[in-house]
Parts: sequence; C-alpha cells; structure tokens
Amino acid sequence: LLPGTTGATGQQLTLGVMGGGQLGRMFVHAAQAMGYFTAVLDPDPASPAGRVAHWHIQTGYKDEQGLAQLMQRCDAITTEFENVPAPALITLGAHRPVAPGAHAVAVAQDRIQEKAHFVASLPTSGIGPAPYAAIESEALLAAVPADLLPGILKTARLGYDGKGQIRVKDRAELATAWDQLKRVPCVLEKMLPLKVECSVIVARGANGQAVSYPVQRNTHIDGILAVTEVYEGALPAALCEKARAATIAIAHQLQYVGVLCVEYFVIDDGSADGALVVNEMAPRPHNSGHYTQNACDVSQFEQQVRAMAGLPLREVRQHSPAIMLNILGDLWFPEGADKTARSPAWDRVLALPGTHLHLYGKLDARPGRKMGHLNITGATVAEVKATATQAAAMLG
Ligand code: ADP
Ligand code: MG
Repeated sequence: LLPGTTGATGQQLTLGVMGGGQLGRMFVHAAQAMGYFTAVLDPDPASPAGRVAHWHIQTGYKDEQGLAQLMQRCDAITTEFENVPAPALITLGAHRPVAPGAHAVAVAQDRIQEKAHFVASLPTSGIGPAPYAAIESEALLAAVPADLLPGILKTARLGYDGKGQIRVKDRAELATAWDQLKRVPCVLEKMLPLKVECSVIVARGANGQAVSYPVQRNTHIDGILAVTEVYEGALPAALCEKARAATIAIAHQLQYVGVLCVEYFVIDDGSADGALVVNEMAPRPHNSGHYTQNACDVSQFEQQVRAMAGLPLREVRQHSPAIMLNILGDLWFPEGADKTARSPAWDRVLALPGTHLHLYGKLDARPGRKMGHLNITGATVAEVKATATQAAAMLG
C-alpha cells in the first residue's frame, strides 16, 4: 500500500484503527505524516484519535454497521488496545488486511494462553513466565501448589495498569481473593523478587522481517508506568541481548504482523545481572515505547504504519539517550483532587533543553488518567538525567 496512491476504495489510501485512545492518536499522526488518510472506530465522540483522524466512526466495537463502514473506508486496519473483540477482527480480516490478526490479539488477551505461548516460543532460552497455576474451578483452586504462595492472583482477561489483581499470602486469602474477582478464570503467579522491570518492542512484517528496539527500563508507581529510561548502562548489555532475541522469537512464533511489546521482570537469582522472566505482551505500540518518537530515527508508530502497509521495516538507530516521564491527571491537582484543576507549568518544563511534550488532547484531567508524556533527549546520559530531575521537580 504505497503512500499517496489511490486504494481499492477509489480514494486516497486509508489506514484504519480499532480504538481511539492516545495510542490510536499517535498512530494516526504517523500515518498522516506519510500521506495516508485515516479512520478511527471508537464509540466516544471525544476520543483522542477520533478528533484527529479524517473519519471517526462512532460505534461500538461489535457494531456490524460500524465495522462495515470501517472496511469500506480502509485499505488496511490495525488496533490500538488489546481488548478489541477478536470476532470483530475476524470479520474485518475476511475483507481487508488486519494487522495484528485476530489470533495474535486473542492470545494476548488471555493470560493463560499468553503464558502457554511464551513457553512454546522460548524452549531453550532459559526464559519463562513466573511459576503459575490457572484457576478456573474449585478443584484447581484446591490443587494450587503451596510454593506459589505468597503470590498475585490476576484475572485471565481484561486486566491493565495493575487492575484485576490481588496479592495473597496464604490459601485463605487466595480463596477470598478469587471470590472478590467474582470467580472468573484467573492465574495465580508466585510473587517474585523483582530487581527491575523492562520491556522490548518489535515490529514484524507479513514477510517475516522483524526489527527490535533497545530494551526499555521501566518504573511503575501504583501499577501504572511512571518512567522509562533507555540509554547505555540502564540495564546490563547481555540481559538486553537475551530480551531482544526472546521478543523476536515470541513474534515469529505467533506469525505476528505489526508492533508488539513484551514486558519482562529481572529477578534476583544471585547472579550480578539477574535473570529474565517474561511477564505479558501487548499487541500494539506501548507506553514504554513513546521515547522512540524523539530518541530514535523511526518511531514505534511509524513502524506500525509500515508493517500494516507492507512497507519495509527499518532497523532502528537510537540517536539520543532517553527518559520518558508519563504525565497523569494528578498533575492538574497539586492541592488535591477536590480542588479545581489547573494546567501544569509547561512553559517552565519546555524551557529545559531536550524536552518534548506530547499531550493527548483529553479534555478533563482526572487522577490516574494518562494525559500525555514528556520525552527527554540530550547529548549525554548525565544531561538527560539532570533534565529529567528538573522537569519532575517542576511538575511534582
Ligand atoms: P498489568 O496488566 O496490570 O500491567 P502485570 O502483570 O504487568 O499487569 O502486573 C502489574 C505489575 O505488578 C507489574 O508491572 C509488577 O510490578 C507487579 N507484578 C506482577 N506480577 C508479579 C510477580 N509475579 N511478582 C512480583 N511482582 C509482580
Ligand atoms: Mg503490565
């Protein structure tokens, strides 16, 4: 699907996306920069991506008319959140190229299938998921091995940003927690001693070409990503090589087309570097990959466009050390959530060297809501760290 040409629809080639959040918005921006028209399907009239796309189809994700309109408009379709109903992607995929496909998205939507996929993809790497047990019945609950406790009970589906998870110390707490989660299918994972968390983004084309990004070091606060750091020395080099190879293997095994992010834990196993444990994957660009917009010569969103349009993927060159600070709605309420919102001191932050502000165009700030991110680049790691410290102080 060569940019700037006319598509099957008789109009300028159009790329569509299921979901209208900030990831969809940044995808739309990347597609438009390359000359594509864009369409977004999202029920919310104020969705961040819907506001910037050429067409916004305001229906539910399963609405047959909405899906038909999206197909009619678009030459290829992608998704921006993992809970797009797989049947909708099957419908779309019967008529248009859909990347990633319904199967890959379905695996990523279910922690039980996802872990089985990791095990199958990484037979000889020494990397696997945390020890776990699927809990889908009273019998499986009773059969949980004692060495999985203390652990974390997670719903198999629909969890994000630490939601749908309960930490449990013993069997009694486990039983209560499963009740609290309404006895939906869950996994119990052993609680691991995390040294640090990291993630890797890969893009893979329909022809099997795969390119990976440098490994991202992630810090979460209250279950939500707060800071991503990517520069030499942020993580041990040998560990990074292993994580990149594992992520590419996971993408190949799925026959994945598009951008995929895999999250890892580095756990303390007594060695200097620690050992990698694979946690979960997202079948789309990822919050931890936003630094690629300003610190790499090709962003994760441009790779998403390239992959779905069948264009060559680019080997990535990171041209600057990077720190990304997530911007949550809390910043609008320095005096507490019950006080009136006020805009953070962007003028001061933007006066710092190497700051790149990305706001998602969300009208109302709420505590915990992802409003934007700040990418920081610079000539040296020390400079980037110093700017990040200053920016955090101005915003905090
Ligand atoms: P989510 O879908 O909410 O991102 P995750 O499985 O990534 O769910 O869990 C959220 C966070 O909880 C992780 O980033 C990590 O900090 C912590 N966590 C999850 N599983 C474990 C575990 N088995 N041991 C220790 N910490 C964990
Ligand atoms: Mg996670």
